[in-house]
Amino acid sequence: MPKPVLLIAGAAARSKTVRRLVVGAVAVGLMLTLSLATPLLAVPLMLSGSGATAGGSLVVGEWGYPLAGDYNKGRGFGWHPVEGCAYCSKDHKGYDMDQPCGATVYATGPGRVVRAGPWDSFGNAVEIDHGGGVVTVYGHMQWDSLYVTEGSRVVAGTPLGLEGTTGVSTGCHVHFEIRVDGVPVDPEPFMAALGLPLK
Ligand SMILES: [Zn+2]
Repeated sequence: MPKPVLLIAGAAARSKTVRRLVVGAVAVGLMLTLSLATPLLAVPLMLSGSGATAGGSLVVGEWGYPLAGDYNKGRGFGWHPVEGCAYCSKDHKGYDMDQPCGATVYATGPGRVVRAGPWDSFGNAVEIDHGGGVVTVYGHMQWDSLYVTEGSRVVAGTPLGLEGTTGVSTGCHVHFEIRVDGVPVDPEPFMAALGLPLK
Protein backbone atom coordinates (compact mmCIF):
# COMPACT_ATOMS: atom_id res chain seq x y z
CA MET A 1 0.00 0.00 0.00
CA PRO A 2 1.52 3.37 -0.99
CA LYS A 3 2.52 5.71 1.81
CA PRO A 4 -0.02 8.57 1.19
CA VAL A 5 -2.90 6.11 1.47
CA LEU A 6 -1.53 4.92 4.81
CA LEU A 7 -1.27 8.52 5.95
CA ILE A 8 -4.85 9.21 4.99
CA ALA A 9 -5.99 5.99 6.55
CA GLY A 10 -4.19 6.92 9.75
CA ALA A 11 -5.75 10.38 9.78
CA ALA A 12 -9.12 8.96 8.91
CA ALA A 13 -8.98 6.50 11.78
CA ARG A 14 -8.86 9.45 14.17
CA SER A 15 -11.82 11.28 12.71
CA LYS A 16 -15.32 9.87 12.71
CA THR A 17 -16.34 12.16 9.87
CA VAL A 18 -13.39 11.30 7.68
CA ARG A 19 -13.68 7.64 8.60
CA ARG A 20 -17.25 7.53 7.38
CA LEU A 21 -16.22 9.22 4.14
CA VAL A 22 -13.30 6.91 3.58
CA VAL A 23 -15.58 3.93 4.17
CA GLY A 24 -17.81 5.49 1.51
CA ALA A 25 -14.85 5.92 -0.83
CA VAL A 26 -13.88 2.29 -0.31
CA ALA A 27 -17.47 1.32 -1.08
CA VAL A 28 -17.33 3.40 -4.27
CA GLY A 29 -14.05 1.69 -5.16
CA LEU A 30 -15.69 -1.67 -4.63
CA MET A 31 -18.61 -0.64 -6.79
CA LEU A 32 -16.24 0.57 -9.48
CA THR A 33 -14.49 -2.78 -9.40
CA LEU A 34 -17.84 -4.54 -9.67
CA SER A 35 -18.88 -2.23 -12.49
CA LEU A 36 -15.99 -3.51 -14.59
CA ALA A 37 -17.64 -6.93 -14.48
CA THR A 38 -21.22 -5.65 -14.54
CA PRO A 39 -21.94 -3.17 -17.35
CA LEU A 40 -25.41 -2.46 -15.90
CA LEU A 41 -23.83 -0.86 -12.83
CA ALA A 42 -21.66 1.43 -14.92
CA VAL A 43 -24.45 3.81 -15.93
CA PRO A 44 -25.55 4.91 -12.42
CA LEU A 45 -21.90 5.16 -11.43
CA MET A 46 -21.15 7.44 -14.35
CA LEU A 47 -24.09 9.63 -13.39
CA SER A 48 -23.16 9.88 -9.72
CA GLY A 49 -19.50 10.27 -10.64
CA SER A 50 -20.16 13.39 -12.71
CA GLY A 51 -21.06 15.26 -9.52
CA ALA A 52 -17.72 14.44 -7.95
CA THR A 53 -15.57 16.13 -10.57
CA ALA A 54 -14.61 19.77 -10.97
CA GLY A 55 -17.50 21.53 -12.61
CA GLY A 56 -19.95 19.36 -10.69
CA SER A 57 -21.13 19.59 -7.10
CA LEU A 58 -19.27 21.81 -4.66
CA VAL A 59 -20.00 19.47 -1.77
CA VAL A 60 -19.99 15.67 -1.80
CA GLY A 61 -20.99 14.17 1.53
CA GLU A 62 -19.45 16.20 4.35
CA TRP A 63 -16.51 17.47 2.32
CA GLY A 64 -16.24 19.66 -0.74
CA TYR A 65 -14.04 21.66 -3.09
CA PRO A 66 -12.37 25.00 -2.23
CA LEU A 67 -13.76 26.52 -5.46
CA ALA A 68 -17.19 25.97 -7.01
CA GLY A 69 -17.20 24.70 -10.57
CA ASP A 70 -14.35 24.45 -13.02
CA TYR A 71 -10.92 25.84 -12.26
CA ASN A 72 -7.41 25.92 -13.65
CA LYS A 73 -4.85 23.76 -11.94
CA GLY A 74 -1.67 25.52 -10.91
CA ARG A 75 1.22 23.86 -9.15
CA GLY A 76 0.56 20.51 -7.58
CA PHE A 77 2.14 19.08 -4.46
CA GLY A 78 5.87 18.48 -4.32
CA TRP A 79 8.90 19.71 -6.22
CA HIS A 80 7.73 22.49 -8.54
CA PRO A 81 10.21 25.38 -8.87
CA VAL A 82 8.63 28.45 -10.47
CA GLU A 83 10.66 29.67 -13.43
CA GLY A 84 11.69 33.29 -12.98
CA CYS A 85 10.51 33.45 -9.36
CA ALA A 86 13.44 33.25 -6.98
CA TYR A 87 11.28 33.95 -3.93
CA CYS A 88 8.69 31.30 -4.71
CA SER A 89 8.93 28.06 -2.75
CA LYS A 90 10.38 25.17 -4.75
CA ASP A 91 9.00 22.33 -2.70
CA HIS A 92 5.31 23.10 -2.93
CA LYS A 93 3.29 22.08 0.14
CA GLY A 94 -0.15 22.51 -1.35
CA TYR A 95 -2.29 22.42 -4.47
CA ASP A 96 -2.84 25.62 -6.44
CA MET A 97 -6.09 26.21 -8.26
CA ASP A 98 -7.64 29.28 -9.77
CA GLN A 99 -10.73 30.91 -11.11
CA PRO A 100 -10.86 34.62 -11.97
CA CYS A 101 -9.73 37.00 -9.20
CA GLY A 102 -12.49 37.55 -6.64
CA ALA A 103 -13.99 34.06 -6.91
CA THR A 104 -15.42 32.77 -3.65
CA VAL A 105 -13.24 30.35 -1.69
CA TYR A 106 -15.11 27.72 0.35
CA ALA A 107 -14.33 25.58 3.38
CA THR A 108 -13.73 21.98 2.31
CA GLY A 109 -14.92 20.27 5.45
CA PRO A 110 -16.56 20.72 8.84
CA GLY A 111 -14.44 22.27 11.53
CA ARG A 112 -13.37 25.38 13.36
CA VAL A 113 -11.42 28.33 11.98
CA VAL A 114 -8.18 28.59 13.94
CA ARG A 115 -6.61 31.37 11.90
CA ALA A 116 -8.09 34.09 9.67
CA GLY A 117 -5.95 36.97 8.47
CA PRO A 118 -2.41 37.90 7.38
CA TRP A 119 -0.10 34.87 7.56
CA ASP A 120 3.41 35.31 6.16
CA SER A 121 3.80 33.96 2.62
CA PHE A 122 0.16 32.78 2.57
CA GLY A 123 -0.98 36.42 2.55
CA ASN A 124 -4.57 36.70 3.74
CA ALA A 125 -5.29 33.14 4.76
CA VAL A 126 -7.69 30.89 6.62
CA GLU A 127 -6.76 27.76 8.55
CA ILE A 128 -9.42 25.24 9.60
CA ASP A 129 -9.02 22.51 12.20
CA HIS A 130 -11.19 19.54 11.22
CA GLY A 131 -10.29 17.39 14.20
CA GLY A 132 -8.44 14.08 14.05
CA GLY A 133 -5.20 15.92 13.28
CA VAL A 134 -6.52 17.15 9.91
CA VAL A 135 -6.07 20.85 9.09
CA THR A 136 -6.70 22.73 5.85
CA VAL A 137 -5.20 26.05 4.72
CA TYR A 138 -6.49 28.51 2.10
CA GLY A 139 -3.89 31.08 1.08
CA HIS A 140 -3.58 34.33 -0.92
CA MET A 141 -7.14 35.63 -0.48
CA GLN A 142 -7.90 39.31 -1.08
CA TRP A 143 -7.33 41.66 1.84
CA ASP A 144 -10.52 42.49 3.76
CA SER A 145 -12.43 39.74 1.96
CA LEU A 146 -12.76 37.19 4.74
CA TYR A 147 -16.24 36.08 5.85
CA VAL A 148 -14.97 34.13 8.86
CA THR A 149 -12.94 34.91 11.95
CA GLU A 150 -10.95 32.84 14.39
CA GLY A 151 -13.37 30.53 16.19
CA SER A 152 -15.97 30.42 13.39
CA ARG A 153 -17.62 27.05 12.92
CA VAL A 154 -17.75 26.02 9.27
CA VAL A 155 -18.98 23.15 7.13
CA ALA A 156 -18.06 22.19 3.59
CA GLY A 157 -19.30 24.97 1.34
CA THR A 158 -19.09 27.78 3.92
CA PRO A 159 -17.70 30.86 2.10
CA LEU A 160 -14.33 31.85 3.57
CA GLY A 161 -13.30 34.82 1.45
CA LEU A 162 -12.39 35.90 -2.06
CA GLU A 163 -9.61 34.53 -4.23
CA GLY A 164 -6.70 36.92 -4.53
CA THR A 165 -2.96 37.13 -4.87
CA THR A 166 -1.77 38.31 -1.45
CA GLY A 167 1.44 37.06 0.13
CA VAL A 168 4.00 35.26 -2.03
CA SER A 169 1.95 34.81 -5.16
CA THR A 170 2.36 35.60 -8.85
CA GLY A 171 -1.33 35.77 -9.71
CA CYS A 172 -4.82 35.13 -8.36
CA HIS A 173 -5.17 31.58 -7.08
CA VAL A 174 -5.97 29.58 -3.98
CA HIS A 175 -3.14 27.77 -2.28
CA PHE A 176 -5.00 24.80 -0.80
CA GLU A 177 -3.01 22.86 1.73
CA ILE A 178 -3.88 19.83 3.85
CA ARG A 179 -1.90 18.93 6.94
CA VAL A 180 -2.16 15.70 8.86
CA ASP A 181 -0.62 15.89 12.33
CA GLY A 182 1.19 19.05 11.22
CA VAL A 183 2.69 17.54 8.08
CA PRO A 184 1.52 18.76 4.65
CA VAL A 185 0.17 15.89 2.53
CA ASP A 186 -0.67 15.68 -1.16
CA PRO A 187 -4.24 17.02 -1.52
CA GLU A 188 -4.92 14.98 -4.67
CA PRO A 189 -5.10 11.46 -3.15
CA PHE A 190 -6.57 12.88 0.06
CA MET A 191 -9.47 14.54 -1.76
CA ALA A 192 -9.89 11.61 -4.15
CA ALA A 193 -10.38 9.31 -1.14
CA LEU A 194 -13.25 11.60 -0.08
CA GLY A 195 -14.90 11.32 -3.50
CA LEU A 196 -13.56 14.72 -4.56
CA PRO A 197 -11.01 14.14 -7.32
CA LEU A 198 -8.84 17.13 -8.21
CA LYS A 199 -7.36 17.69 -11.67
ZN1 LIG B 1 0.60 27.18 -3.59
